[in-house]
Amino acid sequence: MQYEMRAEYAEGDSPQDRNARLEVWHMTRVNESTALCGRDLDPAALTQSSDAWGTPAGQPLCHACGALYIHQVP
Ligand SMILES: [Zn+2]
Repeated sequence: MQYEMRAEYAEGDSPQDRNARLEVWHMTRVNESTALCGRDLDPAALTQSSDAWGTPAGQPLCHACGALYIHQVP
């Protein structure tokens, strides 16, 4: 199973906003927009490789996704 990180934006901001503020990164399965924690994310939201997990680029990370991801990855 492949995972990627998908952005959730601050209240009222959308991926189309030039200066959209990042709220938190969630973990999703590749090509899905529903996070492991159950949150529905914008299909247009920014994504990045799950390699960013545990690095500054992946912060802040959704705590629920973090806990779930740990159990999904061998
Ligand atoms: Zn999450």
